[in-house]
Amino acid sequence: MNYLIYPIKIMNITQTYENDFSHSRHTVGTPKDYPIDDNCGESGANGYFYCPCDEVVVKKIYGVGTSSTNVLWLESTTKVIAPTFNDYVTIMVGHIEDSELKKLSVGQKFKRKEAIAIEGRDGYATGEHFHIVVGKGKFAGSGWVKNTNDIWVINTTGGSVKPEDAFFIDNTFTTIKNSAGLNFLDLYIPDIEDEEEYYYTTANSLNIRLGPGTNYNAINTLPKNSRIKVIEFVNNWARISDKEYVAGNFVTKTIPNNYYETKHTTAQFLNVRSKPAGTILKVKAPLPKGTTVAIMEEKNGWIKIDTNRWIYADYVN
Ligand SMILES: [Zn+2]
Repeated sequence: MNYLIYPIKIMNITQTYENDFSHSRHTVGTPKDYPIDDNCGESGANGYFYCPCDEVVVKKIYGVGTSSTNVLWLESTTKVIAPTFNDYVTIMVGHIEDSELKKLSVGQKFKRKEAIAIEGRDGYATGEHFHIVVGKGKFAGSGWVKNTNDIWVINTTGGSVKPEDAFFIDNTFTTIKNSAGLNFLDLYIPDIEDEEEYYYTTANSLNIRLGPGTNYNAINTLPKNSRIKVIEFVNNWARISDKEYVAGNFVTKTIPNNYYETKHTTAQFLNVRSKPAGTILKVKAPLPKGTTVAIMEEKNGWIKIDTNRWIYADYVN
């Protein structure tokens, strides 16, 4: 699954987009962006920026051999799944030294978790770190644009996005030393089989979202009276799998007269159709692997998962 994950092994965010003036002035102009600094755990050039999705391509390298701060632009080669969007992603990385950037070339590609460059202090940085800015969508124009505050901000087809709305934390890869108060979502959670409890949904077409809030991407819906396991409640959102949440106001432990069992999808991406073998729906579809689906009805190898929503039956378990 092409989840977008945090690109550094030891997260030690030293400045968020709110903390210091050089960053916070990015968040008030038009357009705006949301820079963070991460020094990869401690001072010194000891951490790498890794490819955070299945594949990225180097789009632009700026500043090498000049007094300007070096900037590297990376773009995903396919759409990624982020907590709040499902699109291409473009990332600007600042302060990497000339010596590192000279090893890279535009068009060069990297695979997930492959090291791209070591942190640096090129420009006005007081210590080695990465200055990271994220944009939804593809690289646009020259990769950045001067905003109404005379600040260069990232330029992408989908606009800038806060890092915690873009990156999941793969806790098999990244250790959090300091998130500086930013609320990142974990991609995986420990096995909690013993504490599972059944709940039942009470709303029609209840959205399943990738995080505990309406700002997070909705990936599927559950019909009323779907039986789900709730792992925990987070701010009145019920976590029903490692990265799926439904609104806590619409679940109950009261067992309805009839309920639908739920299962999980097994295909990398599973199309949702309007009827068996019908038109492929574009809304909240296709379903990423592991999506919770209700089993309302099975017919000729197709499963009805909600009103006018059908999937191929071979790809659930
Ligand atoms: Zn910075």
